[in-house]
Amino acid sequence: MSGIGIIRCEKNMNRCPLTGCLRCLTERKEGFVGYEDTEITGFFTCQCPGDDVVNLAKILKSKGAEAIHFCTCLFAKKGENGWDMAEGGFCDKLETIIEKVHQETQLPCVKGTAHLPKGYEPLVWK
Ligand code: SF4
Ligand code: SF4
Repeated sequence: MSGIGIIRCEKNMNRCPLTGCLRCLTERKEGFVGYEDTEITGFFTCQCPGDDVVNLAKILKSKGAEAIHFCTCLFAKKGENGWDMAEGGFCDKLETIIEKVHQETQLPCVKGTAHLPKGYEPLVWK
């Protein structure tokens, strides 16, 4: 069983209760393809400018997370033709944040959770 931690963005915290993220994690779809089994360890909400996100990820690790996933809405937007990453998402420095989290926790970090944009293969820091 792989324990998964999820980091979401404060800009979306009152709009989406992670419905798609949790469904995909449970069903091992979209950003969670490839795990033999998954369970949610927990999730945290990043707050701008993201200074605390490494500490949040370390707490997730201490609670059993073996990988950290960053929500798709951090780098993609929903448009007329589905989710698209051309204009980015809520966070314009996501890859810097992911790199820092990976370096500090040594956990695999994955850019993506649910409703992946067409043709996008989740980037993994490992
Ligand atoms: S990726 Fe989708 S389901 Fe997950 S928090 Fe963002 S909008 Fe909600
Ligand atoms: S740093 Fe990025 S992910 Fe964190 S709250 Fe700000 S926009 Fe959202």
